[in-house]
Amino acid sequence: MTLDDCRPCYAEEIEQVANMTSPPLATWIGALDLKSGDRVCDMGCGVGSYTAIMAEVVGPAGSAMVAAADGATFDPGGCDATLINAGVTHLRTLWLNRLREGGRLVAPQPSRQHPDWARALWPGLCAAPAAIRPVSLRSPRSSAAVSLRDPGTGSPACAATRTSRKNRACSTRRASAWAARLAICEAEFVMSTLQNRQFKLTSRPVGMVKRSDFDFVTTPAGEPGPGEALVRVLYLSLDPAMRGWMNAGKSYIAPVGLGEVMRAGGIGRVVISNDASLAVGDTVVGGTGVQDYAIVKAKELTKVDPRLAPLPRYLGALGMPGLTAYFGLLDIGQPKEGETVVVSAAAGAVGAVAGQIAKIKGCRVIGIAGGPDKGRYVVEELGFDAAVDYKNEDVRAGLARHCPKGIDIYFDNVGGEILDVALSLLARRARVIICGAISQYNNRESIQGPRNYLSLLINHGRMEGFVVFEYAARYPEGVQALAGWMLGGKLKAREDVVEGLETFPDTLQKLYRGENFGKLVIKVADA
Ligand code: NAP
Repeated sequence: MTLDDCRPCYAEEIEQVANMTSPPLATWIGALDLKSGDRVCDMGCGVGSYTAIMAEVVGPAGSAMVAAADGATFDPGGCDATLINAGVTHLRTLWLNRLREGGRLVAPQPSRQHPDWARALWPGLCAAPAAIRPVSLRSPRSSAAVSLRDPGTGSPACAATRTSRKNRACSTRRASAWAARLAICEAEFVMSTLQNRQFKLTSRPVGMVKRSDFDFVTTPAGEPGPGEALVRVLYLSLDPAMRGWMNAGKSYIAPVGLGEVMRAGGIGRVVISNDASLAVGDTVVGGTGVQDYAIVKAKELTKVDPRLAPLPRYLGALGMPGLTAYFGLLDIGQPKEGETVVVSAAAGAVGAVAGQIAKIKGCRVIGIAGGPDKGRYVVEELGFDAAVDYKNEDVRAGLARHCPKGIDIYFDNVGGEILDVALSLLARRARVIICGAISQYNNRESIQGPRNYLSLLINHGRMEGFVVFEYAARYPEGVQALAGWMLGGKLKAREDVVEGLETFPDTLQKLYRGENFGKLVIKVADA
């Protein structure tokens, strides 16, 4: 589209800009710093009035293009300046790559004048491989002449160039292509390559998992393909099962391959979506891996409402551990009112929920946990009837005291010695739920099996294992029940939040040492 095409229709707007009666528009175009002969693209403009104005500024030696709608499929070719407009829902990396040396890209920041669509655009801008970070908000609000200043030196228009020189990770071609100035009206920004820190498994751990079993690397976040989303990870779930996923060999899920990003569940925010089911800004739970940014198939992400519960809770009582407790106890344990239920790792993510559901179902509940604080917590806070401190007392004597008629249901999270003790105290027709065996996960030798299994024969009992993923089709039922109990004050939850992705291997060890108190999560970024 040329100026001649536009001028008849947009004479009024051209006049407005010339007279500065439309300050935001004047500011945006001013920030582009157009010169005669520039090639400029107006993205998502729709009507082309700004294009007409820019065409006038670049003059007959230059050219101005307009990309209608959101410009999703539009390749502008090499550009000196690009203006992002209201039709654009998120920034395309292509547009950054098409900026010529010294090019400028201007996009509005959310503000009073243009609140909603700019807010939607914003996460996309921050997720672009050439990300834009706010530095200050020295606002030239009413001025048409935006002066972009390096936040460090104060010298004009060099922030991006300086930053891209620092970013030696960029290829030379990219670094020079992005030695362009990216401006956001009413703010100043520096450009940096979007960094994705990742923990990759490099060796199969022997015994306790160690930092040296991983490489902590930084790579560009990449771009999601069709049907995928780029998710900014906010919190990561740390689960005992992670240790098993690091082992070679057959399990209920394939092992994490050497060189692969360590598998993990996480909650995060969608920053780019290439699927109609997800919008930028949605909060989602899914398999993100131990990293800052994850590219995940949209159909493998579950949207959650961040206003209903603190985000880490969706990884704990309202997430996979809560569902594990729900289906394990109710489906396999089938508790009946008045029965005696024993839960090990009772202060943990799964155990705390299992015990509370057993209470909701009218059972007597005894928790086994390490240390007096956890024992007090499950009794005084969660409403268990009693606790046995396996680190400081004889478990057999404690359970025998609290379960005079024997154990009807044992919800086993730990295996090993404690499982054997529980087996020796079973009531008739008891159910033993094999949920996990954390005491065995870091064994250098083979797993210790139960010696007292003949108690099942004597008591006509049943021992059954399960994996929560088998219940995927029924997750909505489980989540609804758990959320209902939580809203009704019958289900309490606690999270143990450790700051910093970089702490991952050391934080994971806390689980196997019993150093976590509640659902263990890593906070990766601010929500
Ligand atoms: P968690 O209970 O929040 O944390 C693990 C706890 O285990 C520690 O805090 C510690 O508590 C206890 N523990 C660690 N080493 C122990 C040992 N040697 N002996 C006794 N207790 C020990 O973890 P979670 O996420 O809720 O997981 C609990 C169990 O459920 C794990 O075995 C896990 O693998 C299993 N799980 C199974 C499924 C499934 O689908 N079947 C799904 C999720 C989880 P103390 O301080 O009390 O010792």
